[in-house]
Amino acid sequence: MNSTRTVTIIGGGLAGLTLGIALRHRGVPVVLFEADRYPRHRVCGEFISGRGRQTLTTLGLDPVLFESGAREAMTTRFFTRAIKGPIRPLPEAALCISRFVLDAVLAREFRRLGGELREGERRVCHADSEGVVFATGRRPCPKAGRWRWFGIKAHARDIPLESDLEMHLVANGYVGICRLSDDRVNVCGLFRRDDEAGAASSRTAMLKGEPGSLLYQRLASAEFLTETIRTVAGLDLRPSLGGDHSECRIGDALTMIPPFTGNGMSMAFESAELACDPLAQWSCGTTDWKEARAQIANQCGYAFHRRLQWAGRIHALMFLGGLQPALMTWLPRFAAPWDFLYSRVR
Ligand SMILES: Cc1cc2nc3c(=O)[nH]c(=O)nc-3n(C[C@H](O)[C@H](O)[C@H](O)COP(=O)(O)OP(=O)(O)OC[C@H]3O[C@@H](n4cnc5c(N)ncnc54)[C@H](O)[C@@H]3O)c2cc1C
Repeated sequence: MNSTRTVTIIGGGLAGLTLGIALRHRGVPVVLFEADRYPRHRVCGEFISGRGRQTLTTLGLDPVLFESGAREAMTTRFFTRAIKGPIRPLPEAALCISRFVLDAVLAREFRRLGGELREGERRVCHADSEGVVFATGRRPCPKAGRWRWFGIKAHARDIPLESDLEMHLVANGYVGICRLSDDRVNVCGLFRRDDEAGAASSRTAMLKGEPGSLLYQRLASAEFLTETIRTVAGLDLRPSLGGDHSECRIGDALTMIPPFTGNGMSMAFESAELACDPLAQWSCGTTDWKEARAQIANQCGYAFHRRLQWAGRIHALMFLGGLQPALMTWLPRFAAPWDFLYSRVR
């Protein structure tokens, strides 16, 4: 089958670049618009778990990612202010890699395969435009219900960890810490505040948590690397799937999953993989645009709806402060939540 129609991808984050690479493997002409330039730091825990790892393997990207500093994570540990959970092995190895490196590696690979990448170009397209895929990332939402959600990430040095991923539950959010290459760790927090809250502390003070807490002790000697600090606000963590949109969307543009799952990047990769076949068929004229778009929406809906439901429920529990100690004693006893959180679940 000869591909003739060009697929246009708007957004060169993980979903857009992975889709571009997968389509180029199939010989489909692709032009991709990215508003920003590579390399760039992103707000992200930089911890990839779940099925999306398989997508990277299928696309032959493992060797280049490991050469670029990706490392595997095998263990995790949860903390509250004063309680340490046991160290648990992850059901499957997760992958930790800086987004500064990852996005740039994928962009290079896309170009190497003959994709046309237009960096520094913000593109606006009509929702119904044929052949256009929106991989534009999160849909900004200043306020979700009572809360304003925001994320902060920084790289730091000289932090000894007790497991490959530490997840610290704090009063108004959580902070994950995972090992990267070059003795760096990623420190990334998701926080919420309501309108009555006073002025926010500095970004690194928020990441360090309350004095006296286990998180504060962990980060006491941290040297934060200023150039890596990023903030994002206006997150909408309420699930939405294909039927909710008239455009063809993948990745965070389709839906966001709570970050504690380490599954957002995975869903970006997976949605790209699910979109590849219908788009390749549209490109060579064996299916029309409406059909291709519907197939992508249905397949993503089927793949993600259960994950989104469970993640939403656990996320709500994590924010009930009084329940945090109970979660710490309950969670380690059962394999199922860990398999759900960090394995290749459907
Ligand atoms: C606090 C926090 C922590 C997280 N931690 C993790 C984690 O540990 N593990 C995990 O798996 N996930 C995590 N995530 C989620 C993960 O970062 C996202 O799911 C992932 O980045 C989604 O990729 P994407 O390609 O859909 O979107 P993005 O990576 O956001 O890419 C979208 C791209 O589109 C571009 N763009 C937007 N509009 C236009 C336009 N009009 N024209 C051109 N370009 C445009 C943007 O510049 C951007 O580069 C976290 C998220 C947050 C908020």
